Amino acid sequence: CGIVGAASHRNIVPVLVQGLQRLEYRGYDSCGVAVHAGGLTRARTTSRVADLLTQVAEDHVEGLTGIAHTRWATHGAPVVHNAHPHFSHGTGEGVDSARPARVALVHNGIIENHEPLRAALQARGYVFQSQTDTEVIAHLIDSLYDGDLFEAVKAAVLQLHGAYAIAVICRDEPHRVIGARAGSPLILGVGQDGSENFLASDAMALAGVTDQIVYLEEGDVVDLQPGKYWIVDRAHKALSTAQRPVRTVQ
Ligand code: GLU
Repeated sequence: CGIVGAASHRNIVPVLVQGLQRLEYRGYDSCGVAVHAGGLTRARTTSRVADLLTQVAEDHVEGLTGIAHTRWATHGAPVVHNAHPHFSHGTGEGVDSARPARVALVHNGIIENHEPLRAALQARGYVFQSQTDTEVIAHLIDSLYDGDLFEAVKAAVLQLHGAYAIAVICRDEPHRVIGARAGSPLILGVGQDGSENFLASDAMALAGVTDQIVYLEEGDVVDLQPGKYWIVDRAHKALSTAQRPVRTVQ
């Protein structure tokens, strides 16, 4: 339903959660936030965004890089374990949920081919923690990860059928947020002082944070870091600022 993401040099959790509050009017059944804080950490609730704010304050959830979501369930009941962000803990030795998460992801939309993707990922050893279509994307990205989250997301989205806007962070790349869209809206917000960049499903989520917006187009994949960003199209061709101009919104 709603997405906010940020790569910054300051604790970005208040901006992420306030962004969700600006999207609340659209309706949602649960919400959550994940940040890079040494490792990946998250808070999720089926309560109001205001309660998420209390939860992150009490649990001292802070980080420079993060993603947040309000969910409107399409696949899987509106319960905390189905709320986004979803984690992938990878595969290998030990109890799945005890391994540190490597990928965290939020998603708007519906993945039509989630069943065959889930079966293929389970066959490779991925253990699913939710009933959502979304969780397949987290594990798919993890399965394709080889040290570069941008490359993993670009490869993963080629396998998705359906509608998506996603924002992704990775334990091994603390200053990077990757976004991608097809069939669901996603915009890039360029920070006012050039030291932070944002993602959102709607520019309204960034009101008061930045009015410098790049509208991503169908199939675009974007790499956000605190002082720079990079956009490619569906064919992985780099796009210039003339092709994806920065616009000032009211
Ligand atoms: N299909 C996803 C889910 O049910 C995303 C729903 C949304 O767009 O909020 O979790």
